[in-house]
Amino acid sequence: MGNQIFCPVEPDNEAILDYAPGSAERASIEKRLDSMWSETPEIPCVVDGKEIFTGNIREQRCPHDHSRVLARWHGATPEVVKMAVDAANEAWIDWASATQQVRSAVMEKAAVLLSGPWRDELNASTMLGQSKTVIQAEIDAACELIDFFRFNNHFALGQIPQEQPLKNPPGTRNHIDYRPLEGFVYAVAPFNFTSIAANLCCAPVLMGNTAIWKPSKTSILSNWYAFRMLEEAGLPPGVINFVPGDPVEVTSAVLSSPSFAGLHYTGSTEVFRQLWKQIGDQIENYRSYPRIVGETGGKDFIFAHPNADVAALATAAVRGAFEYQGQKCSAASRMYIPESIWPQLKELLVEATRSLPMGDVRDFKNFVSAVIDESAYQRIQQAIDRSKEDPKCKIIVGGECDDSQGWYISPTVIECEDPRSYTMETELFGPVLSVFVYRDTAMDECLDLVDSTSPYALTGAVFCSDSDATDAISARLRYSAGNFYINDKPTGAVVAQQPFGGARASGTDDKAGSALNLMRWVAPRTVKENFSPATDHRYPHME
Ligand code: NAD
Repeated sequence: MGNQIFCPVEPDNEAILDYAPGSAERASIEKRLDSMWSETPEIPCVVDGKEIFTGNIREQRCPHDHSRVLARWHGATPEVVKMAVDAANEAWIDWASATQQVRSAVMEKAAVLLSGPWRDELNASTMLGQSKTVIQAEIDAACELIDFFRFNNHFALGQIPQEQPLKNPPGTRNHIDYRPLEGFVYAVAPFNFTSIAANLCCAPVLMGNTAIWKPSKTSILSNWYAFRMLEEAGLPPGVINFVPGDPVEVTSAVLSSPSFAGLHYTGSTEVFRQLWKQIGDQIENYRSYPRIVGETGGKDFIFAHPNADVAALATAAVRGAFEYQGQKCSAASRMYIPESIWPQLKELLVEATRSLPMGDVRDFKNFVSAVIDESAYQRIQQAIDRSKEDPKCKIIVGGECDDSQGWYISPTVIECEDPRSYTMETELFGPVLSVFVYRDTAMDECLDLVDSTSPYALTGAVFCSDSDATDAISARLRYSAGNFYINDKPTGAVVAQQPFGGARASGTDDKAGSALNLMRWVAPRTVKENFSPATDHRYPHME
């Protein structure tokens, strides 16, 4: 990269297509959904650009129709993981010394492919494999990923290399060389966002690192298409190695390598803490101190002031809690409502929630579909059953579970008398919204509850129509959320508009899709050049 600074034109966010009846995009995605429904690809590991069919075959099923096998994939053995580590180390030699322009060109090409011919591949595989409606797939697998590619390029080519030492006294020149880390990055992906999965490896790779990509077992299909798209975009062999497999086995083989240089993780808090411990236990083995970046769980809130706009609040609650079946880390799952507006809000909320169409994502009329798999289904069903038995909880809408065809749980609202009841405190990662109704005169105590009820601090929203009161609430909740919304739902962060991430038990707050995140994947070298070096070791005070 040297001192050459190239400032690209600031990109725009990718426009979201709406897939209205009769639109060209609607016809195109429906065609691909049909053909993909009759395919069952066999997905290999890919190491150094070579496909490896290990014979250790597992299946990915469709969550809203679990009899349908969408893909068969080959799990990596420890030997394959070892080969992936070797390939990442070998590829690092050329990739780490390639110019930023060369690396960015691959990402720009990927953005162009995804904006065009690959859009349907990624959207359709995300719809069928992860049960996203078309609009949820579009904002994730197409638009957010394109935005990650384009804005990360913008930061890597412009903003980051411009961060240079302020002073160059006469006769010297100082500069910072933004080197990649000395080793590879391990990217461990969640099931719920195709864009996040791809960005977990692409962000470090853009900065010159190589990567091992371990996708989640319930999103292999979309992650596979994303990987193949990157290959078509010109990614050299070995720069990203695609290694699906048993998470414990793959992780233990990856982390035993001395050249492991960073973890880029998104998923549950529990797994992240486990990985951090594993890395700590082996710290003497690593060549460098590994960078650890993780975005983890949430128990995201909506807080309403007595003067909140009730119609806006109801819409934010329905969209924020139930879109993608509540399986967004940012999904609203606990809500605090003053008693003065609760009767009016309850009526709107119950009516809207009851009317949400649920079913197969290929029927574009549906708003929600199934949850990701059997274990998620059971976890959420058990929480609902627990509320049914708790005299202090009342299910005011939803609460039905049906696993006969898919993992369906109807959008559910639970009114909780106890603000510390199980569903108010625990991340369920499903379509369940718990509501605590507070006395209007006890707003300050309620804000304390919002702040202290969960260990997480990912997203939160306040609804209030008075700016002084909003400022006071925002100040009181300053550490309760990494992404804070005023009169808006707590979901739907957009790259370059609301950089995303939370602190406390929600992660290291390294803001995916921003320069802050990319900076974690570089090891800056400061270079001072002296044009007239001293030739006498004595100082004036010695005379
Ligand atoms: P998960 O923790 O079950 O899995 C995440 C990844 O970790 C997967 O690739 C999985 O295979 C792997 N994994 C599981 N056990 C492991 C182990 N013992 N060792 C190594 N790897 C292991 O999470 P999920 O169900 O895929 O995703 C849901 C979770 O992710 C929720 O908690 C959600 O809040 C969180 N999430 C957070 C963000 C964010 O930006 N903060 C974004 C998306 C999801």
